[in-house]
Amino acid sequence: MAKYRLFGKRYKLWIFLLLIASSVGLCSIVLSLIQRGNQPNRLTAKHPISKPSALVGAANHGLSKHVVGLKPETTPELRTFSVPAQFQGKTLSQVKLNNQEKLIALTFDDGPWQKTTLQVLDILKKNNINATFFWVGAALEKNPQIAQQVVADGNAIGNHTWHHWYHHLDKKTAAKEIEDTAQLMYKTTGVKTSLFRPPGGFLKNGVAAYAKQQNYAVVMWSVSSADTDWKAQPSAFVKNVLKGAKPGSIVLMHDGGGEHSKTVKALPEIISGLRQMGYRFVTVPELLKDAKSK
Ligand SMILES: [Zn+2]
Repeated sequence: MAKYRLFGKRYKLWIFLLLIASSVGLCSIVLSLIQRGNQPNRLTAKHPISKPSALVGAANHGLSKHVVGLKPETTPELRTFSVPAQFQGKTLSQVKLNNQEKLIALTFDDGPWQKTTLQVLDILKKNNINATFFWVGAALEKNPQIAQQVVADGNAIGNHTWHHWYHHLDKKTAAKEIEDTAQLMYKTTGVKTSLFRPPGGFLKNGVAAYAKQQNYAVVMWSVSSADTDWKAQPSAFVKNVLKGAKPGSIVLMHDGGGEHSKTVKALPEIISGLRQMGYRFVTVPELLKDAKSK
């Protein structure tokens, strides 16, 4: 019978083949183990931006059901803050209303913010009213739980870019400022919004143009509390709002971007003052639904 050499020794054919087969098998097992060790975990390697994952973050931060307002085992429901066709791709400030009712929309910019946003939410809740918050992506990234609370309380939200830049932006950067923020808003809260407010109210630096192209309503304001004036007292903010209010007004205030304890101080008086004047508080999407059709 023919003999085959392996490692200097001579073997019968069947023993020779068995040895070859077992060494090939052993090699493939070793190789697959090495590969498995090097392969990134599929779940962590991909960034699942297509689905809202607010609760992943919430669970990681040990956030209670009460704070999130959503059960951890459920997917957050998608909510959409859309605008009537006449406002899509348009800039608006004062809204002409359909009926005689005195409606007004309070808006808060530059959050979500530690402390201030929660204080504003508390005041809104005590008064049983809702407002509209225009978020900065960079602030949202830092305060996802506060953001979830804003939405869980029934408030409306809008996009206020990622960096809050004032300078002129090329089209690609302007798109990124808005899209990155929109994506994080969706990922954190499950909300898609058609409301956009340009930082500083600048309409010509590229972001508003991109927002219009994407059919956002560019929401300016018709009454400013002037609460960014750090020298002014809360009573001045109250006066500014009560003096400027008209049915269909959109009121500008800030809950983020810096120290705004004076806004928090002024807010209860702003609300009670407007109430005494006969106003009812609505969110911006609600206000636009009651607008006169052109
Ligand atoms: Zn702003």
